[in-house]
Amino acid sequence: MTGQRMAIFEAVFKESSHFTAEELLDKARLIDRTVSRATVYRTLPILVESCLVREVDIGTNLKYYMPNKEQGSHQAQVICNDCQKIFEIPAPFMEWYGSTVSAKLGLTPISQRLQVTASCQEYQAKGFCSKDKTIESSASA
Ligand SMILES: [Zn+2]
Repeated sequence: MTGQRMAIFEAVFKESSHFTAEELLDKARLIDRTVSRATVYRTLPILVESCLVREVDIGTNLKYYMPNKEQGSHQAQVICNDCQKIFEIPAPFMEWYGSTVSAKLGLTPISQRLQVTASCQEYQAKGFCSKDKTIESSASA
């Protein structure tokens, strides 16, 4: 992978909302001055094809893009207070919550995080837990 592409990837994943190819070009150039417009326009379709970026059609001539990290932005972390084990759970309500409370203040949400501290099942069962800090995924919310 070329340095130019790395800069483009980096710029994409720093984005938390929609951007155009030109905006991406500007941001990628802040990371690597040598990024060319042609490389941005060649790389975007590849990112879309590999589902790293989503094309967002808002009915204008301009194409908008968005990093496809829905999974990440709508995950909540539940962390065991004792062993620090991190459970990731899908939290689709978060987007709604974030935009609702922001709208009340007249603000636009950029990012948000939900972290819950809890006692893991092992702690509940034994009163202590083994201290391995592995990350577990849970499909059930
Ligand atoms: Zn625990």
